[in-house]
Amino acid sequence: MSNRPVRVRFAPSPTGPLHIGGVRTALYNYLFAKKHNGTFIIRIEDTDQTRFVEGAQDYIMDALNWCGIMPTEGPGLGGEHGPYVQSERREMYRPYAEQLVAEDKAYYAFDSAEELDQMRSQAKQMGMPNWQYNSVTRSSMKNSLTLPADEVQKRIDAGDPYVIRIKMPRNTDIRFEDEIRGWVVVNTNNLDDKVLFKSDGMPTYHLANIVDDHSMNISHVIRGEEWLPSAPLHIILYDAFGWERPKFAHLPLLLKPDGNGKLSKRDGDRLGFPVFPTNWTTAEGELYTGYREQGYFPDAFINMLAFLGWNPGTPQEIFSLEELCEAFTLDRVSKAGAKFDPDKTRWFQQQYLRVKSDSELAELLTKELDGEYSVERLTPVCRLMKERATFVKDIFTDGSYLLEKPTEYDEQTIRKKWKENAEDLMREWKITLSTVTPFNAENVETTFKDFLEKRELGIGAVLPLFRLLLTGKGMGPSMFEIAELLGKEECVARIEEGIDAVSKVGA
Ligand code: GLU
Repeated sequence: MSNRPVRVRFAPSPTGPLHIGGVRTALYNYLFAKKHNGTFIIRIEDTDQTRFVEGAQDYIMDALNWCGIMPTEGPGLGGEHGPYVQSERREMYRPYAEQLVAEDKAYYAFDSAEELDQMRSQAKQMGMPNWQYNSVTRSSMKNSLTLPADEVQKRIDAGDPYVIRIKMPRNTDIRFEDEIRGWVVVNTNNLDDKVLFKSDGMPTYHLANIVDDHSMNISHVIRGEEWLPSAPLHIILYDAFGWERPKFAHLPLLLKPDGNGKLSKRDGDRLGFPVFPTNWTTAEGELYTGYREQGYFPDAFINMLAFLGWNPGTPQEIFSLEELCEAFTLDRVSKAGAKFDPDKTRWFQQQYLRVKSDSELAELLTKELDGEYSVERLTPVCRLMKERATFVKDIFTDGSYLLEKPTEYDEQTIRKKWKENAEDLMREWKITLSTVTPFNAENVETTFKDFLEKRELGIGAVLPLFRLLLTGKGMGPSMFEIAELLGKEECVARIEEGIDAVSKVGA
């Protein structure tokens, strides 16, 4: 390994909201940088002006901030290698493309879009569906390799539109060792003469990407597998300029939970989970839901993402961000695509919710409820409900009966359990319950068990009735804990009111 200081970058194109696959790329870059005391950089790759989407850059920065994986160099963050937005660096790129032309490693090409289309369709008719501008076909095209030098100059002086293309060497094996995939070998006969510089005066992704990675001293390029086919061209460019190549690591794809193929927004819509870190509203007003707004904790989200394509090699699954920084290595990133698992995603969230203290959850819940209930009132509610909740808001949605009397009673429980003797039984139980002193879970439980024993009744015949009257529900946390939380008076009142309400429903 060379002794270059570790400098890695996340290089999104601002073409819309960041997909969670992009967040994972950013995360692995962040973890790798931290692990090696390196620097994590963000660079915005906006050379394709036709795909630019207003607000996307702010979205990306906000999402990384929410995840807690902010870079230390980037737009608005400072750093010695700025600007970090490619459109602000546009003047920088042309000389590099010209340098390659001067060295006969690239050339001007004047073919219009129509001419190229024509070539493609002619080739198709002749049974060659994948026509490419390459080391063979270039000789019959309109470029500085085929036109006389004075005509080339004339065209340039006259302002004719042209692009600069790489002059792909013939029949040469390009090799590099990917940190995840091992040795990759591609023969240049399979590569085309990609455009490096466009007629609109902007570099293409390929040129800008390697010029910037070089001038920003990037040591490792960690990016999605979809960029693997571009890597040989990038290697050729590094070599053409005589620059030290960075190391490459191409991350596995995120796959749909069912079947094969890349995880898409459509899978999220279809199966009911977000594929974006935070909410995004399109120009047409369509809302894409985010993990943040769904109620995920950023640390749970990050923990889940870290495991999509990496594992520590031990059974441990819960990792704080610091622990991830410590444990992460590229050699434990898998080559195979990682299947997204919505159940596992919720599981991570539940684990993070459960370990939060009751009062911390109550703080979060009171905020969510705009202060409708105080932290003091919500703390015991959180204590009882957190084992069953996935999101903070579930504690209220599922446990609002701990704060307010029920207004509805579970119909299934009524149908199954509210038998003829139920009313008398519950009246008796109410009287027995009102004698419990001190009124705590333990005493309520002992009294309840005595009550059953005396009447030779099973728990299943009575507890659901008690629960129904107190909470309106068919399921929930310990009834004895609930009773203690509500207090004797409230329990007695709810049993009375519940009997009236349920008898009416039953009648
Ligand atoms: N701009 C590319 C993207 O949108 C970056 C690819 C790379 O990291 O080289 O993903």
